[in-house]
Amino acid sequence: MENAIRTLSLLVIGLVPLIAAADAPVILTVSVFNDAAASPSVMSQAQNRATLILRRAGITLVWLDCGTPHDPPANSGCCDLSFPQHLSVRLVSTSGPASADIFGQTFQNAAGEGNYALVYFGSLKSSNTSEVIKTGDLLGFVIAHELGHLLLGRDSHSATGLMSAVWQVNELRQASQGILFFTNNQQDRIRARCLAAQAAVRKAASWSSTGSGR
Ligand SMILES: [Zn+2]
Repeated sequence: MENAIRTLSLLVIGLVPLIAAADAPVILTVSVFNDAAASPSVMSQAQNRATLILRRAGITLVWLDCGTPHDPPANSGCCDLSFPQHLSVRLVSTSGPASADIFGQTFQNAAGEGNYALVYFGSLKSSNTSEVIKTGDLLGFVIAHELGHLLLGRDSHSATGLMSAVWQVNELRQASQGILFFTNNQQDRIRARCLAAQAAVRKAASWSSTGSGR
């Protein structure tokens, strides 16, 4: 009986880090470079929408307002990017290079890692979706989609939902109703990748502090 209790204790002790990891807060910082000079109300609505979407994946977004090229904030930490803890989104006023239907683009290496997302605000503003969804809200869905690319890695489009390559009537209807999200599988993968990166940073920091103590 005593052995059984000991085994149970060991199991419980072993589970504690797993439970802690599952509940661990994941904070992701996003530098926003508003080259397109989108209005504060559009930016606020977009950030609220993207925050809501990522929160369902267990990710808390922290936004850094990195201003415009003519008015950058001083000492903001906007360029201290680090995958995947600190990503960036740049809004440009032009349309997509290949097609006006493309609202965004991300840049990743062969390992599927990257910090940079572009949003073609010109394409987005001139799209014919304004009757079903407000510009700020649409921008929020687009930002969440591009962050999804950075967090999920290469080939991260899905047949339907937020990560579909082309938003059809169904996706736009869901967006207008505020119910266009990542799939559960995508949410799990995003959170797992962020948690793994967070654990790696902690491990490196503990090695570094152990080394400096010698
Ligand atoms: Zn895409």
